[in-house]
Amino acid sequence: LPRRAVAVVTGANRGIGYEISRQLALHGLHVVLASRDASRGQEAAESLLREAAAVGDVSVDVEWRQLDVTDAASVEAFAAWTAQTHGGIHVLLQVNNAGVNFNRGADNSVESAEQVIETNYFGTRRMIEAMIPLFKPSPYGGRIVNVSSRLGRADGRRNRIGDASLREQLLTDDRLSEELIDGMVMKFLEQVKQDTWSSIEWPQMYTDYSVSKLAVNAYTRLVARRLLDRPEGQKIYINCFCPGWVKTAMTGWEGNISAEEGADTAVWLALLPQEQSTIGKFFAERREIKF
Ligand code: NDP
Repeated sequence: LPRRAVAVVTGANRGIGYEISRQLALHGLHVVLASRDASRGQEAAESLLREAAAVGDVSVDVEWRQLDVTDAASVEAFAAWTAQTHGGIHVLLQVNNAGVNFNRGADNSVESAEQVIETNYFGTRRMIEAMIPLFKPSPYGGRIVNVSSRLGRADGRRNRIGDASLREQLLTDDRLSEELIDGMVMKFLEQVKQDTWSSIEWPQMYTDYSVSKLAVNAYTRLVARRLLDRPEGQKIYINCFCPGWVKTAMTGWEGNISAEEGADTAVWLALLPQEQSTIGKFFAERREIKF
C-alpha cells in the first residue's frame, strides 16, 4: 500500500483495536483512531505517538476522531469529516472492531442482547454503508476488515443454529439477503423480550454475542457479493476474521493470547497485496476458515 493511505479503526482506544492501530501506523499508514469517548481516544492516540517518539520514529501518524457506532448522527458526522479531510486519498482501509460482550464464561445472559446486537451487528453495518461511498478508485484497492468471532458460526462445533432451514439459508451465498439477516436478529430479540428464546434454537454459548457475530459474518458475505462486480481499479476487499481468545477487558483478561497477537490477522488482511486478497471470506491465524 502507498504510504499515508488512510486506515480507520473503530473502537480503537483499547484492546485489539488499539493494537491494530499501532501496527498499521508502524506500517506507515495514516491511522484514524476512532473511539466513542473523547478522553479515552485522545489519550490512546497520544500514547501511540509518545511510544513512537520515544524510539525516534517520526513516521508514525495517528489522529483521533469521535465515533459511536450505535449513534447514526455520530457515524454520519464521522463519514462527512473523513470525506472532507481525507477525500482525495487513494486507499481507505476500514477495520470494524468496535464491539461489546456481557457474557462471562458459561453463563448465557441475554439481558443486554439489544445493546450487543446494536453495537456489533448494526454498528458494523452502519459504518460499512456510510464509508463505502468514500472509497476512491485506486490501483491498490480498498479494504474492509470486520472483527468477528468463531462463536458466530451457524453450524459450529460449539454453536449451532437449531433451525435447519435458517442455518442452510445463512450458509448459502445466493440465499443471503438483508431481510434474512435482519429477520434473524429481530426474531431473536423478540424472543429475548418475551423470554421465550431457547438454546436449542440459538447458539448454545454466549448466545446474544454469538448471534451478533453470526450476523456480522453473514453481512460480510452479503456486502462481498455486492462489491464483487466493481470494475478493476475500484475493488474493495471485504473479509472478516476471528482474533482468537484474547486477553482484553472483554474477556476479563482471561484469553490465551495478547492483544498484539490478536491484531495480527487483521493487519495481515489489511496489507495483503491485491493479487492475494480475497473477498467475503473468514480468517483466523492468517488462514481461511469455514463460516
Ligand atoms: P475491548 O472491550 O477491549 O474493546 C472494545 C472496544 O470497542 C473499546 O474500545 C470500546 O470502547 C469499543 N466500543 C464499544 N462500543 C462502542 C460503540 N458503540 N462505538 C464505538 N466503540 C465502541 O475488547 P476487545 O479488544 O477484545 O474487542 C475488540 C473486538 O474483537 C470486538 O469486536 C470483539 O467482539 C472482538 N473479539 C474479541 C475477542 C477476545 O477474545 N477479546 C474474541 C473474538 C472477537 P470503550 O472503551 O468506550 O468501551
